[in-house]
Amino acid sequence: MANNLLRLFLESNLANLKKNGLYNEIDTVYGANGPMITIGNKSFINLSSNNYLGLATDPRLKKVAQEAIGSHGLGSGAVRTINGTLDLHDKLENKLAEFKGTEAAIAYQSGFNCNMAAISAVMDKHDVIFSDALNHASIIDGCRLSKATIIRYEHSDMDDLRKKAKQAISLGKYKKMMIITDGVFSMDGDIAKLPDIVDIAEELNLITYVDDAHGSGVTGNGYGTVKQFGLEEKIDFQIGTLSKAIGVVGGYVAGKKVLIDWLKARSRPFLFSTALSPADIAASIKAIELLMDSKELNQALWENGNYLKHGLVKLGFNIGKSETPITPCIIGDEKVTQLFSNRLYDEGVYAKSIVFPTVPKGTGRIRNMPTSAHTKEMLDRTLAAYEKVGREMGLI
Ligand SMILES: *Cc1c(COP(=O)(O)O)cnc(C)c1O
Repeated sequence: MANNLLRLFLESNLANLKKNGLYNEIDTVYGANGPMITIGNKSFINLSSNNYLGLATDPRLKKVAQEAIGSHGLGSGAVRTINGTLDLHDKLENKLAEFKGTEAAIAYQSGFNCNMAAISAVMDKHDVIFSDALNHASIIDGCRLSKATIIRYEHSDMDDLRKKAKQAISLGKYKKMMIITDGVFSMDGDIAKLPDIVDIAEELNLITYVDDAHGSGVTGNGYGTVKQFGLEEKIDFQIGTLSKAIGVVGGYVAGKKVLIDWLKARSRPFLFSTALSPADIAASIKAIELLMDSKELNQALWENGNYLKHGLVKLGFNIGKSETPITPCIIGDEKVTQLFSNRLYDEGVYAKSIVFPTVPKGTGRIRNMPTSAHTKEMLDRTLAAYEKVGREMGLI
């Protein structure tokens, strides 16, 4: 490395992470990311993906992706505004608008990019954003990029939101005001209080922005959290990802046509980054069609989630306050949580520990992400591993 200061910076910071147990050794998964995965030469029950409906390996999606490569090739060729908007992009966006119950939609290369794109295309330094304390990192970064004032309110605390919004309004210095929230919070699996948020937004004239990355395909019979509450007309921005329940990659913003037109004219990841590829688009369209045609996968997901939750509770574990299939198993102490996760790994269960600073100190947990693709037998083996390790460590 040419620059010594850089080398020192990198080496000392990496050493610090390792010393404090904060360095994540990344495992390589060999082959497909399904309900079972292979790491090294060992097979695991996979409870760590966001592949809620098992669509990442669905043969129907694979088939249309292969056909799209045949008809449209591999890359989209350019950024959308110059030469990269394919008929498939239009088809995907029409399907997304139908799925989300909005006038229009715009697709991006990822959910992360949606938040980079949409917030700063609308909000600026004269504006203020009220952001839930547990919002996703991409929301936080998107807010920062906009240069608006960011005011965090306590997680899902509507009194705090109302109080802080009124305080900000009383200063009389902000132009636009926006409330941003995840639809489903991925660490605890709880759902945002969207009806209350909409009430406050209407009362105080706030723009509403819901990132439902973990909700789409899961809540509202698969249509997402906004639909679950019947609020399609009241939420200005509906953000989603194509990489979780949809099983592919990409993201989208759905809303009024005037909003989508503006994002196509002004949002930078749309203007300056090459569009989604044909295979990804075709597979995503198919996934949404499957979701809209049948509730089967969605029901299997909830059934599996409830089965795992009941099993863990019966064993005496604390699974927090999840309202979705996301199943945290709260252990508490950070070191004990990591040890627990390592022991589950030995037992063939791949479920990651999530500890401070991702979640508050003392609330370390194993986060289980059951999917529709898990069999009862896999879930029973998971529960047996939890029972064995839990007793061994004196936790149950
Ligand atoms: C996962 C997630 C994203 C990122 O989506 P990608 O498509 O993986 O980039 C954005 N927002 C929220 C709330 C998420 O949970």
